[in-house]
Amino acid sequence: ETIGANLERTVAAFGDREALVDVPSGRRWTYTQFDGAVNEVARGLLARGIAKGDRVGIWAPNCAEWVITQYATAKVGAILVNINPAYRTHELAYVVAQAGLSLLVSAVEFKSSDYRGMIAEIGFTETVFIGTPDWDALIAAGEGLSLAERAATLAFDDPINIQYTSGTTGFPKGATLSHHNIANNGFFVGELVGYTEADRICIPVPLYHCFGMVMGNLAATSHGACMVLPARGFDPAATLRAVAGERCTSLYGVPTMFIAELGLPDFADHDLSSLRTGIMAGSPCPVEVMKRVVAEMNMVEVAICYGMTETSPVSTMTRRDDGLDRRTETVGRVMPHLESKVIGPETGLPVPRGEAGELCTRGYSVMLGYWDQPEATAEAIDAARWMHTGDLATMDADGYVNIVGRIKDLVIRGGENVYPREVEEFLYSHPDISDVQVIGVPDARYGEELMAWVVMRPGATPLTADAVRGFCAGRLSHFKVPRYVHVVEGFPMTVTGKVRKVEMREMAVELLG
Ligand code: ATP
Ligand code: MG
Repeated sequence: ETIGANLERTVAAFGDREALVDVPSGRRWTYTQFDGAVNEVARGLLARGIAKGDRVGIWAPNCAEWVITQYATAKVGAILVNINPAYRTHELAYVVAQAGLSLLVSAVEFKSSDYRGMIAEIGFTETVFIGTPDWDALIAAGEGLSLAERAATLAFDDPINIQYTSGTTGFPKGATLSHHNIANNGFFVGELVGYTEADRICIPVPLYHCFGMVMGNLAATSHGACMVLPARGFDPAATLRAVAGERCTSLYGVPTMFIAELGLPDFADHDLSSLRTGIMAGSPCPVEVMKRVVAEMNMVEVAICYGMTETSPVSTMTRRDDGLDRRTETVGRVMPHLESKVIGPETGLPVPRGEAGELCTRGYSVMLGYWDQPEATAEAIDAARWMHTGDLATMDADGYVNIVGRIKDLVIRGGENVYPREVEEFLYSHPDISDVQVIGVPDARYGEELMAWVVMRPGATPLTADAVRGFCAGRLSHFKVPRYVHVVEGFPMTVTGKVRKVEMREMAVELLG
């Protein structure tokens, strides 16, 4: 089924239910109205000469038109190219050329960035700016056109989306995804979280990333649930206000977003009683933070999802009927209709249950490939169609997966493998630490040494290295105890909320001089 056909089924079943709320502008759409808005833009794209398979970029903060454009491009069979709202001219120029855009949908400005100016600077003229007369003109040009003829030419396995990876470990790669890839993944995520037309999902994560547009939008529209956009960019206070004001039943976030929300001075003043569930994903989810989300935010059924852009994204997740321990300490089990395995880095064969190795995923959700990068695609997906994730994981006898870290982040200290994740989990249990990241830094004697970057809880006195080492002594193996401690306000992050350890390591090397 195509995304357009899927949406139309939801409209037929739940036309009067609310589909979308754009909190900053106060605008709202029922499913019938939403589909109408999508069709207007889709007809505008037809009038503009957009053919099936043409690439249409979107470079804008979270807003209703982002969502409308997502479904409009799907209905005309154009490939939506998600562009990171934090990009600047150099990166924008790369994407415009790499994906070969026919049209760019953008916002005029966001925060202090002048998008229109940057687009003009790179000399790209095929643009439409949301909320300007351009946008109205695009829609007006399509009046009276019919979408039926185009719809008849679309197939479920056509490419529909190029999503760039977060760029955590290097230059972002454009994962090319089909209707089938992402519509099914969104559907199953919604199914396992238990969405119905009564659910209202607060989506503070960027739409440009799969967390927002698949696990948020497509999960919602395939079950008749409502998408609530609390703000243009992430704003913890606006997020909690939207949950309370819109009576949201579900809230999304990467771990650092939940940490920021829980740390708001007026956290207790927000009425979160409508929440039932939500999803934490994107980075290692600290057990302490998961427990606080359950206990203090009323998200008793909260799920952890694990995945990557290349797998549409989710491949494993926790289920509502998993015990609380498994829901906070693992990334759950493989999703329906997908396969997971953990292989030894040298042998390429599955390792015994409980042993760490590289996690691989196979099935309907694996991307078509990296856009125009056949070599990178061949490196990531092997001949048997397994996607090699680059993540280290263990799987227990019942199939529950634990992500122990990224292969690239593994620290080898004096010949011992140290998974920074394990040290981070331990340090989260310190009462004065609100957030922590551990990296390896070069060391003449041991090859690598551990360095912890810590963010203190509000009001706590900054910890010294000795204090942290004292806290670890006798409770962590000596080779896992960080040699260096660096107190910070925050970490270098990607827009998708991932910590850029590559950058931290560069900064640490300078720091240690
Ligand atoms: P790039 O591939 O460009 O370096 P990236 O891998 O961060 O960036 P994404 O596709 O956004 O880009 O993120 C996927 C990665 O996020 C996974 O490979 C994994 O390392 C991490 N991840 C996602 N969910 C979880 C989770 N629940 N627990 C631990 N890690 C997670
Ligand atoms: Mg990746």
